[in-house]
Amino acid sequence: MTTYPHLLAPLDLGFTTLKNRVLMGSMHTGLEETKDWNRVAEFYAERARGDVGLMVTGGIGPNLEGSVLPGAAMMTTQTDIDNHGIVTKRVHDAGGKIAMQILHAGRYAYGPMCVAPSAVKSPISPFPPSELDEDGIEKQISDIVATAERAKQAGYDGVEIMGSEGYFLNQFLVTHTNKRTDRWGGSYENRMRLPIEVVRRAREAVGTDFIIIYRLSMIDLVPNGSTFDEVVQLAKEIEKAGATIINTGIGWHEARIPTIATSVPRAAFAWVTKKLMGQVGIPVITSNRINTPDVAEDVLATGCADMVSMARPMLADAHFVAKAAAGNGAQIAPCIACNQACLDHTFSGKLSSCLVNPRACNETELVIETATTPKSIAVVGAGPAGLSAAITAAERGHKVTLIDRADEIGGQLNMAKQVPGKEEFWGLVDWYRTMVAEMGIEVRLGTEATVETLTGFDEVIIATGVLPRDTAIPGQDGANVHSYIDVLKKRSVPGKRVAVIGAGGIGFDVSEFLVHQGDSLTENLPDWMVEWGVSDPGEHRGGLAPEGSQPDAPARAVTLLQRKAEKHGKRLGKTTGWIHRAALNMKDVQFVAGVNYERIDDDGLHVSFGEARENPTLIEVDDIVMCAGQVPDRSLADALEQAGIAHHIIGGADVAAELDAKRAIDQGTRLAATL
Ligand code: NAP
Ligand code: SF4
Repeated sequence: MTTYPHLLAPLDLGFTTLKNRVLMGSMHTGLEETKDWNRVAEFYAERARGDVGLMVTGGIGPNLEGSVLPGAAMMTTQTDIDNHGIVTKRVHDAGGKIAMQILHAGRYAYGPMCVAPSAVKSPISPFPPSELDEDGIEKQISDIVATAERAKQAGYDGVEIMGSEGYFLNQFLVTHTNKRTDRWGGSYENRMRLPIEVVRRAREAVGTDFIIIYRLSMIDLVPNGSTFDEVVQLAKEIEKAGATIINTGIGWHEARIPTIATSVPRAAFAWVTKKLMGQVGIPVITSNRINTPDVAEDVLATGCADMVSMARPMLADAHFVAKAAAGNGAQIAPCIACNQACLDHTFSGKLSSCLVNPRACNETELVIETATTPKSIAVVGAGPAGLSAAITAAERGHKVTLIDRADEIGGQLNMAKQVPGKEEFWGLVDWYRTMVAEMGIEVRLGTEATVETLTGFDEVIIATGVLPRDTAIPGQDGANVHSYIDVLKKRSVPGKRVAVIGAGGIGFDVSEFLVHQGDSLTENLPDWMVEWGVSDPGEHRGGLAPEGSQPDAPARAVTLLQRKAEKHGKRLGKTTGWIHRAALNMKDVQFVAGVNYERIDDDGLHVSFGEARENPTLIEVDDIVMCAGQVPDRSLADALEQAGIAHHIIGGADVAAELDAKRAIDQGTRLAATL
């Protein structure tokens, strides 16, 4: 008897059966754009080997005007069909099934050719769209339908028609973006005409034995979004038009409510999909922040959906389903919903990967092979860099000894997990613990590595991490000054008024920690919804609470300072920086930029502004927390150097500037793959 009876149950679609209830949701990884079709095929085939029930590709454009950006992958020629055929064959050979997502971006298309129901510019794009005339609309329909036909010719098992997230079809549905007065606008019947027509004609073109998933926005999270009655009406019509499955879309891209970030509670929107259950006869998929087999099983067992979509978790572990089925759920590398190596890369024009799994999208390039000569390897430092190196080396057959002076593994991850909204880091440390045991790594905790203890190993890897930077501010040795480490480890408890020096990732995290009181909202969905102003779309259009966000009062008055005269959080993650800023704004954190730190005394922190050190100001606070960055901890590496013992340096001990877990894990894995 499996622990996941609902998750692993087959899903009979009539003409075909999916082997389980897991959909790998669409991700724009940038792989298709590399034009290295062997690499694309291997990415999907690896996930097919991991037993996922059905996969959806990244969004493929039906034409130039509808593509997300110039150069984005399209399916318009015989060459496209042939290239995609490489992918579908490899997936089928691996026993998997795959659908191609057809994505028409409408006014979200990043280019001057973009088109939309009305000429209403999106707040997240610099390009005003052109309003389509009747012929233009007909062209879009036939291009989408022709794309579906080509997908079938390329061997796909189906298509997903993207109708949510504020893209083209979604733009027709709501009055905010559809101002038309012809048969494509005005009444809701008219506004939903386009999505229905697209599905109807796509079904006509591809025949009956082909999956058509329609991704339907169930909670728009934008002003004047759809009501739930409209959602149900559309879903029923989409079913009649010939869709096989309805997938859930949550929030438009321009919504100012986080929907997939790590601070969003797990399965936060499954209740929205549940409202549609029983209203249509075809299977319904739910989505967003479902990242473990237990959460997925619970979502299905409680009747929220017929199937779950997990996208990023399939980057973190291609063998998610196979491991769950084999009873090895603890070995699934967890997606921590950080966006750092996936969405942040996509939005910076870089190829996606995964912070936890650097092999994601690099399957053909970063190959972990059994070592020809097993070696004895010492790894000093059990933070993300050291852990990744140790696990990869052990996986390759090396005999690994992992040493850390701390009495637990995890390094800086143990601090991150203390921050409200970063609870996923607990799971990441647990996973490392499981894998260290699984790989038979000898662990010496509470142990200071020395030149003597490291003598005799074939390879020595130094991953000793970082030390807080000395800011040399006069008065920094006072009793009212604390390091971020002491605060996050709760060795220091600052008073009610706090100044935080340094507004990098850690300054933001520490500020969040300081203003927060009570349980983390990430573990309390109703309170999280109140804080962000999310409501039932059955009660309020688009699921926006009329009273807006209703945050609790902050636990402390926090001032977050930086010397740079730029906007706070400018260098945080591209897709998450705005969430961190909004969260602190809600708690009245004062952002002060362009300061010089003059001195600290019992009255607080004295600063001045600008190069001329003008406008001397006292920030009256009880305590000051130092979050001023890090420097490499090289003491052991230097001693080894002097003793003439060869070693490799990785992670923060190598380069501390802008170090994050993504770089540390990548470097550790890549080094161990070569030893
Ligand atoms: P950081 O991002 O380098 O920020 C250091 C901060 O200290 C900056 O605001 C800097 O701004 C200030 N600073 C630098 N030198 C200073 C000095 N001598 N005196 C006073 N202030 C100084 O480092 P971090 O915040 O420690 O974070 C470390 C790494 O972890 C970063 O790469 C970060 O991205 C990562 N991290 C990421 C997240 C995330 O959510 N993705 C969360 C936590 C940490 P000024 O020079 O303008 O004063
Ligand atoms: Fe998940 Fe972060 Fe990996 Fe993206 S980079 S898949 S969010 S763990």
